[in-house]
Amino acid sequence: MAEVIDGKSVAEDVVSKVKALTAELSAKGATNPGLAVVIVGEDPASQVYVGSKSRTAKECGFHSLQHTLPTDTSEEQLLKIIGDLNADKSIHGILVQLPLPGHIDAGKVIQTIAPEKDVDGFHFINVGKLGTGELDTAFVPCTPAGSMLLIERVRGKDLSGLNAVVVGRSNIVGKPMANLLLAANCTVTIAHSRTRDLPALARTADILVAAVGRPEMVKGDWVKPGATVIDVGINRIPAPEKGEGKSRLVGDVAYAEAAKVAGAITPVPGGVGPMTIAMLMANTVASAYLAAGLKRPSF
Ligand code: NAP
Repeated sequence: MAEVIDGKSVAEDVVSKVKALTAELSAKGATNPGLAVVIVGEDPASQVYVGSKSRTAKECGFHSLQHTLPTDTSEEQLLKIIGDLNADKSIHGILVQLPLPGHIDAGKVIQTIAPEKDVDGFHFINVGKLGTGELDTAFVPCTPAGSMLLIERVRGKDLSGLNAVVVGRSNIVGKPMANLLLAANCTVTIAHSRTRDLPALARTADILVAAVGRPEMVKGDWVKPGATVIDVGINRIPAPEKGEGKSRLVGDVAYAEAAKVAGAITPVPGGVGPMTIAMLMANTVASAYLAAGLKRPSF
């Protein structure tokens, strides 16, 4: 059976390191890291995400600010708030929770965030830095950055010569994940809905990342024996066995089958999921170090 990659424990390690770095920063007399989270509207899932981001920020010793805005907030009002946060020296990270209501142009909002405070890594400047390998100053999107840490725990930092297949080409997960693997010297293939014979392609992967959003799509016989399998997917499916109307979370990988073949695999839940918030904290503390003219800490 595959080694189970414990994302919860790696995420806890990251958060502990962030706490220590925050304490060091105040010991040096610099400003505490500040994270501003902005949410527009009442989407219950977004409220939960934002709540746990703000809570973890406080736990890390950050100055944590939350703007909870009504659904009818205008684009102009939101852009004004972001402009104020860009100018606020006590804030090092700005996160606008997506999705935004339809009358607001999310692309415009993201590009208004100052790149040096864009701890989600979605600004074109940060996307470009990742694409050109400027990793010392880039902010990398949190989910692929966290997935990369999990891969490094199994394979080490230099992945020279390994074949990586990333299934999914979103700007939030698939593309940045592929760029990170390329920067670590993997030979990378990005697959998507138009890819031919995906099972055969997946079987070439020493590192297989699934970021698709289709419950248990990647089967056991798609996995090369000994491969490292990173399951980014979070899908809620009905679970009548738990009682009427109940549901459970599964990934994009058929875990039970794949775990018999893989060398190491992330579970869902408890794999990539906990890493996302931890990496948001890591990016924010890194931003505070850079703002204080200090060397960026690595994770
Ligand atoms: P997305 O924007 O919907 O992208 C999905 C990608 O999968 C697209 O590139 C799509 O290809 C590809 N795809 C869809 N059906 C396919 C098929 N049958 N064969 C091959 N490729 C296929 O999703 P996302 O935002 O990247 O998220 C992916 C999954 O990760 C979701 O389950 C999401 O909930 C989860 N997620 C988890 C975290 C976390 O914190 N753990 C964070 C973000 C996302 P096309 O481009 O050709 O359409």
